[in-house]
Amino acid sequence: MLGAGPAGSMAAAQLASAGVRTTLIDEKLPWEKPCGGGVTFKAYSQYPFLRDGAAKTVRQSSLTTPKAGTADMRLDQPILIYSRAELNGRLFRRAEQAGARFEQARVLEMRSSGGGCSIRTATGAIEADACIVATGARNPLRNAGTEWAQDDTMIALGYYVEADRPHIDIQFFEKFEGYVWVFPRHGHLSVGICGKGKPAQTLRAWLERYMDEHGLVYKGAKFYAHMLPALASGSWRKNRIAGEGWLAAGDAAGFVDPITGEGIYYAIRSGDLAAQTLLGEARDKAAAYRDAIQRDFAHDLYLGSLLSRRVYLGDFLFGAIPDRMVQFTRRSPKFRTVMQDLFAGTQGYADLSQRLWRDLSGTLRETAMSFLHSDIATAISKSS
Ligand SMILES: Cc1cc2nc3c(=O)[nH]c(=O)nc-3n(C[C@H](O)[C@H](O)[C@H](O)COP(=O)(O)OP(=O)(O)OC[C@H]3O[C@@H](n4cnc5c(N)ncnc54)[C@H](O)[C@@H]3O)c2cc1C
Repeated sequence: MLGAGPAGSMAAAQLASAGVRTTLIDEKLPWEKPCGGGVTFKAYSQYPFLRDGAAKTVRQSSLTTPKAGTADMRLDQPILIYSRAELNGRLFRRAEQAGARFEQARVLEMRSSGGGCSIRTATGAIEADACIVATGARNPLRNAGTEWAQDDTMIALGYYVEADRPHIDIQFFEKFEGYVWVFPRHGHLSVGICGKGKPAQTLRAWLERYMDEHGLVYKGAKFYAHMLPALASGSWRKNRIAGEGWLAAGDAAGFVDPITGEGIYYAIRSGDLAAQTLLGEARDKAAAYRDAIQRDFAHDLYLGSLLSRRVYLGDFLFGAIPDRMVQFTRRSPKFRTVMQDLFAGTQGYADLSQRLWRDLSGTLRETAMSFLHSDIATAISKSS
């Protein structure tokens, strides 16, 4: 296993507990990887051990755009927010307890050889029957994992701020494919911005302006920056996720939701599927893994990549979609339920447009009625 993040540690735990001799290689011990740390209901309902950790449980969120203002939303299925050192440590310990051996070393090279693979690290060489490449978005291997094209990643940067608050805040900007998040963790906040099409200095300036306006102090706070996979639709077809003797999982395979940036679930899920593939009967492991990923979540992520620009940059009813999203969330209970399900990860992209169209007439009616009611209420309060 190359990389002991969520993808590598999950795969190592599954393989070791099935009795396979497993080595987990990472240059670092569990560390505070730059991240929001948000774990959705989809993730912790499928992998219940995620519920037992020292994560903050958040039940309230707000969505804001400069034009439409703010919509507050209760999360029926709360989001768990982890510090990444805690989450990585938890997954790493599961792997060790299952019997995986850890080797702290930098991986330099991996070559397919005789159906298996040869790995060269900074401290030596290892021969293995198979290798799971889980070295994250900055995967250093040239011959395994996603080959990033220019439009396949987002910049993500932010600060850890010493403060506390009970809710998540999401802020959209005009004509920008990305967002600012404020995620409360135990003892601090992870405040960041991610997006495409703008240089890092611009994003940092926007984030700092946002923080100034919202009383979040970044002077003296720890700054972080990292790459966030967000594959463009054309890149999914040629995405290199498996080859002779190796399977790629997590960020190294580009498995991140291109709209929300959710990657922890897909890292754990793909690590699990990679382990199941290696344990399974199929002779052609690479083909079996591609099929398993396709059947499980790749199609939904591909649809997300088709939708992403439209969600952030498109218009609906003569207004920007993020503005409409905020207005509908505020005014329509039906639409709010869709948003809650999107936050929980239980609403996929495959049937999202169907559900929206089905609910839309109701949503518009509810919205119109709620505008009407507020106009009536204003008129009554003015006349009294
Ligand atoms: C700023 C930011 C915010 C995010 N917020 C969220 C969020 O709130 N929720 C969510 O679901 N997702 C979020 N993500 C995405 C999430 O962080 C990733 O999808 C997830 O960490 C992927 O896990 P992984 O195991 O594939 O890779 P990683 O977590 O990156 O782990 C890779 C491991 O490989 C090791 N490694 C790398 N190269 C080498 C080498 N040459 N030799 C040895 N070891 C090596 C690294 O040390 C690391 O431990 C965010 C990402 C960013 C950048």
